[in-house]
Amino acid sequence: MTSSSSTLRVALPVPLPQLFDYAPPPGPVPDPGMTGQRVRVPFGSRELVGVVAGIGQVEDPGSLRAAIEWIDTTPLLTGELWRSLQWLARYTHAPLGEVISTGLPGPLRRGEAVPDTHQWGWQLTDAGHDPQPKLRNGTRPQRLAECLAEGVVNEDRLDTLMDDWRSAARSLAKRGLVERIALAHSPAVASPAGGPAPNAEQADAIAAITAADGFAAYLLDGVTGSGKTEVYLQAIVACLARGKQALVLVPEIGLTPQTLSRFRNRLGIPVHVLHSGLNDNERARVWAAAARGEAQVIVGTRSAVFTPLPNAGLIVIDEEHDGSYKQQDGIRYHARDFALVRAKALDVAVVLGSATPSLESLHNAHAGRYTHLRLKQRAGAARPPVVRVLDVRKRPLRDGLSPEVLAGITQHLQAGHQVLVFKNRRGYAPVLLCHDCGWTAPCQRCDAPMTVHAGGRRLQCHHCGARQSAPLACPDCGSLALQPQGIGTERLEEHLVEAFPEFPVIRIDRGTTGKRDALETQLALLGDRAGILVGTQILAKGHDLPKLTLVVVVGIDEGLFSADFRASEKLAQQLIQVAGRAGRAVDAGEVWLQTHHPGHPLLETLVNGGYHAFADAELQQREAAGFPPFAHLALLRAEAQQVEHANAMLSAVRALIPDDAAVERYGPMPAPMPRRAGYQRTQLLLSSPARRPLHGVLDQVTPQISALPQARRVRWSLDVDPMDL
Ligand code: ADP
Ligand code: ZN
Ligand code: ZN
Repeated sequence: MTSSSSTLRVALPVPLPQLFDYAPPPGPVPDPGMTGQRVRVPFGSRELVGVVAGIGQVEDPGSLRAAIEWIDTTPLLTGELWRSLQWLARYTHAPLGEVISTGLPGPLRRGEAVPDTHQWGWQLTDAGHDPQPKLRNGTRPQRLAECLAEGVVNEDRLDTLMDDWRSAARSLAKRGLVERIALAHSPAVASPAGGPAPNAEQADAIAAITAADGFAAYLLDGVTGSGKTEVYLQAIVACLARGKQALVLVPEIGLTPQTLSRFRNRLGIPVHVLHSGLNDNERARVWAAAARGEAQVIVGTRSAVFTPLPNAGLIVIDEEHDGSYKQQDGIRYHARDFALVRAKALDVAVVLGSATPSLESLHNAHAGRYTHLRLKQRAGAARPPVVRVLDVRKRPLRDGLSPEVLAGITQHLQAGHQVLVFKNRRGYAPVLLCHDCGWTAPCQRCDAPMTVHAGGRRLQCHHCGARQSAPLACPDCGSLALQPQGIGTERLEEHLVEAFPEFPVIRIDRGTTGKRDALETQLALLGDRAGILVGTQILAKGHDLPKLTLVVVVGIDEGLFSADFRASEKLAQQLIQVAGRAGRAVDAGEVWLQTHHPGHPLLETLVNGGYHAFADAELQQREAAGFPPFAHLALLRAEAQQVEHANAMLSAVRALIPDDAAVERYGPMPAPMPRRAGYQRTQLLLSSPARRPLHGVLDQVTPQISALPQARRVRWSLDVDPMDL
């Protein structure tokens, strides 16, 4: 107990940089140094849930508002996770309260109790046992009583034994014949099922990872289908055998039911899953089970990186190059980078796996910070696909498809195989064009054309979501000659359905896979039949399609000439990943790239030298140009109704930076899309060859930003290590 002038320094989920002082609520004051408990406090006219981040002393406690009540009697956030969240707040230069709120599941954020993770079971009461009550034969209550005759049965098991046992249980409970009891938690003992015997490369990788004693980072750099997942599984088995927890991060679209059942079957214990399709209560239960050490294997998407791991043994990041690991709004954290920080703090091994590692990770491997593990061959019988570049200059294209491509598709279908047609553009066409005057349909609120949907009848903005029906005549010249220009997945689908009426054509993009597992359902529809899949990069990973032997890439040329310095890397990754879908089983695969730029250096390097040749060349260019990973960036963005307000704010921030700081500043300048959803957007880019001076400047400048008068009229954000410039 400390003197009555102790104050609580509370982190609150508000966009202000500081902690807030409150007098402790009634009840015992915690020891100084004890932090991490939630507390309910008044804030303006609201009540907020905050987390105590420190205990302070004030001279004049009378001026402080008092907290309302303790929510936790013992800290909710402790140990490594609590320290790592504090690190993340410092690194992203974001308010600690907002970082905590990003990291906690909804119910905990809102001040609810940590949920119960007991297993529940049902048993017969004494009255239910003896004398045997009369229950009509064959009815649900009778069948349930029979199930329970031998003893307690847990609810998960009942779910597998009969449908709707709950109503039967309720009716028996009303008659005093059965009761529900909490079962003691006993950690499941893994009984791993044997997988394929690892090949030599896999065996080396597994041996290296399982030999780690404490923190060690591995880049598992293996071509598509080389058996990376097998390596993860074996490393997890070894981790479980040491009695430790494993966390596996996967990209949003990689977390398929197929992946999960593979994990469950092979590990032989419950696998706890965290993804965006779960409701808040489910998330909170997984969080609680992990915090209590009950969840031994947790597989999840980006935000699963915030899972408490009191007994950690291993962290795996699958497809580490994937863009979905970077949160693009709110707290702009990178789950891969944060996972590395956590692994270090937890002193455990971390495995980054990919067929197309990010240039950052390759650079770290080259510098010796990660152990570079290579799997150069496909596992089992599968061979690498043969890649062909199709020069379509001067060739007739019908809805974007050349005659050669159509003939190739016919051949593969007739052999009973499946074909994937990849186009990274959903909708019918990217632009609606007036053939007479050149007008194109713009979004009213963005600097971008509307995408044509529904065969030309609807327009939709992919940036702000605006929708409208397509005009019947050109608003500028009145002409009726409005034509969808360019190719999207819908248009390809339309053409392929017409060209191959006897085969199923299934389109898969964000327009068709709104619901979780819709992808699964659609792929199941195709099964092993010969047929065509048309889609965007959603199709580039996740699923094993053994019958798929031809991948056609239609029109990648937009990506070859983008201004974004990461565009080449993203394009190369996408091409290799989608090409990797072909020939994953016994039948050999082919990949055809249709392009108007067959001599483009990116394509030449990629096709002749593979991803590593591309990556080496690209790293050299980045070094020469002073771009990441050879520079560290931070991007401040401002949005306002009027561009002057956005610029004034960024100029004021720029003026806060000391002249002698070893940091380059670029801007204020227009953002890549200067107007979006009705807002004018500008940016200020800070760059430094080393991390320390950049963070030194941010440490000094960010706390002052919200106090700038110019900041009041704008929405602003700070992105440390931005992915999109
Ligand atoms: P990746 O994760 O690198 O894409 P997977 O682990 O999914 O590769 O393996 C690709 C396919 O090869 C899977 O069907 C898997 O069961 C199989 N496989 C993996 N390792 C072996 C092996 N050592 N021997 C035979 N088949 C294997
Ligand atoms: Zn016109
Ligand atoms: Zn728009």
